[in-house]
Amino acid sequence: MQEKSENQFSIEFFPPKTISGEAKLDGVFDKLSRLKPHFYSITYGANGSTKRGTQELTFRYQQMGANIAPHISFGDTSEKDIIGLLREYKKSGVGRIVALRGDLPKGSNEKLRYASELVEFIREKTADQFHIDVACYPELHPESDSIKTEVKHFKNKVDAGANSAITQYFYNPDAYFHYRDYCAQNGINIPIVPGIMPITNYNNLSRFSTNCGAEIPRWLRFRLEELRDDKRGLQEYGIEVVTELCEKLLAGGAPGLHFYSMNLSASVTRIWDNLSLSGKDN
Ligand code: FAD
Repeated sequence: MQEKSENQFSIEFFPPKTISGEAKLDGVFDKLSRLKPHFYSITYGANGSTKRGTQELTFRYQQMGANIAPHISFGDTSEKDIIGLLREYKKSGVGRIVALRGDLPKGSNEKLRYASELVEFIREKTADQFHIDVACYPELHPESDSIKTEVKHFKNKVDAGANSAITQYFYNPDAYFHYRDYCAQNGINIPIVPGIMPITNYNNLSRFSTNCGAEIPRWLRFRLEELRDDKRGLQEYGIEVVTELCEKLLAGGAPGLHFYSMNLSASVTRIWDNLSLSGKDN
C-alpha cells in the first residue's frame, strides 16, 4: 500500500477519431472511474488534428465530475485562440493543463514553438490560474544530443513556471532515478512523475519506442517477441513487468504515476489493483 498520500496517480486518453471510438472510450472512462485517479489528461495534436476532440472530451468529462487536464500546444493555434481556449477551460472548471511543443507529421518543415515559450505565455496571461505540467525525457528526447542540453531545456520550462513534469515512458527504473537525481543536482525541484506504458501490443510498442526514443531493454524485447502472437500471454506478462517497474519507482520515491492508457482499461486496472492504489482517497 502506498504511504505517501501526496502522491499523484493519473491516466491519459487520446481523443478518438470515430463515433464508435468515442463510445468505446466512454466505456473505458466508466470502468476506470472506480480507480479515482487524481486526474485524466487528454492529448492534443499539435498540427490541429485532434484539437477539437481534446476540447470536447475535456468539457464533457469535466462536466461529469472528473478532473481533466487537457494537453495544449501552440502548434498552428494563434496566441489569441490559446487565450480564448484557456478562458473556456477555466470557465468549465479545468485547473490543470499539460503544456507541450508537440510533434508535426514526418516530413513537415514547419517549426513548432518550444514548450518553454508556451509555459511562459500561459503564466503571463493567466498568472497562477492553472497548474502546469510539462514533459521530460529520462532516456532523452530524440532531438537532444546530451543529458546536459536535455536538462537545460527542461529547466527552461520549470523556470518559466511549470509546476510538475510527466516523463516519457521507459522500462528501466534506473533511467528514471539517474535522471531525477541529475535534475535535482541542476536545480530542478518540481515533482517528476514517471509516465507508465502498459504492454498490450508488441508491434505498436516497438514502433512508438523507435519514434520517441524510449528503450525496450534487450531482456524484455526478446520475451515480448516470443509472445507477440499470444495476445493474452503478452498482456499478462506485461502486467507483471510493469507492476514490478511501478513498485520499484514508488519504493525509490517517485511522486506518483501517470498511465498512458491508450484508451484501454484492462491493464491499467490490473496494475493499479496490484499496487493497491484502488480504494485510497486519491
Ligand atoms: P520541448 O520541451 O519544447 O522540447 C522539444 C525539443 O527541443 C527537445 O529536444 C528539447 O531539448 C529541445 N529544445 C527545447 N528548447 C530549446 C531551445 N530553446 N533551443 C533548442 N532546442 C530546444 N505530443 C503531442 O503531439 N500531443 C500530446 O498531447 C502529447 N502529449 C505528451 C505527453 C507527455 C507526458 C510526453 C512525455 C510527451 C507528449 N507528446 C505529445 C510528445 C511531445 O510533444 C514530443 O515529445 C515533442 O517532440 C516534444 O514536446 P515537449 O513539450 O517536450 O517539447
